[in-house]
Amino acid sequence: MSAPIEQARRWIHESERVLIGAGAGMSAAAGIDYGDTATFARLFPAFVRRGFRAQYQLIGHTGLTPAQHWGYWSTHVKHVAFSEDERVAYQALQGLVQDRDTFVLTSNVDRLFPRNGFDEARLFTPQGDYALLQCRKPCTRETWPTRPVIERCLTALDPVTQEVSDPEAIPRCPRCGGAVFMNVRIDAGFVEEPYVEQAQRFRQWLREAATARLLVIEIGAGFNTPSVVRWRMEQLVHQHPGARLVRINLSDPELPDALGKRAVALAMGAEQAIGLLRNGAKAA
Ligand SMILES: [Zn+2]
Repeated sequence: MSAPIEQARRWIHESERVLIGAGAGMSAAAGIDYGDTATFARLFPAFVRRGFRAQYQLIGHTGLTPAQHWGYWSTHVKHVAFSEDERVAYQALQGLVQDRDTFVLTSNVDRLFPRNGFDEARLFTPQGDYALLQCRKPCTRETWPTRPVIERCLTALDPVTQEVSDPEAIPRCPRCGGAVFMNVRIDAGFVEEPYVEQAQRFRQWLREAATARLLVIEIGAGFNTPSVVRWRMEQLVHQHPGARLVRINLSDPELPDALGKRAVALAMGAEQAIGLLRNGAKAA
């Protein structure tokens, strides 16, 4: 067993509060990988015929008709945010920290934390949430539940073309009649209101953690949007006396010099790291 794993296990054991900062690498461990061509081919055969190979190519793509657009997004969001698939890595992580006072901050919009046993009241998703819809303009700061809208699209889905065959099923803003999209941070029109309360709860939890032994476990947070998770976790540990950082990252495990002996990196995938940490926790 390597020294970093042993150290991380000891820090988990010694911690009173655990902050989990999770990026795309955590969802990839649960099979949600926007570059995964095999899953894309299985879910989107009609889009493969249109020349696409992976989900990342559809992010921000504007060349689809509304029927194709909602055919794609309803299938994608159902798979990512509402499927009943078991997500072993999340459940293992939950098992690892279940007797600690835990808060989760994640850039992921897939709801995998609350769907796998993490407390919704201890969750901050500053990049948004696939479970909510907003007006694209936006003409209102309101949001609406996504699920009934995409279920209606999926009911009207042509199985061959993967287009929404009923124009009435294409969602529109109930106020202005314009386009809607999931409530995720894609541009300056992002409706932040659903996350204001989460942010307040997060700040309150951090204030209460000021006198606690705080451990930050950062998982799969790279340099795509580093200010959301990675840099924020580094900054928190830097400012919080006695706090420690466990960075789990296969491709970018480097640690800032300023954290010295208060940080350790596990240069491996999330699933492997959580499995190794969990085996130790069970034995302890
Ligand atoms: Zn509107």
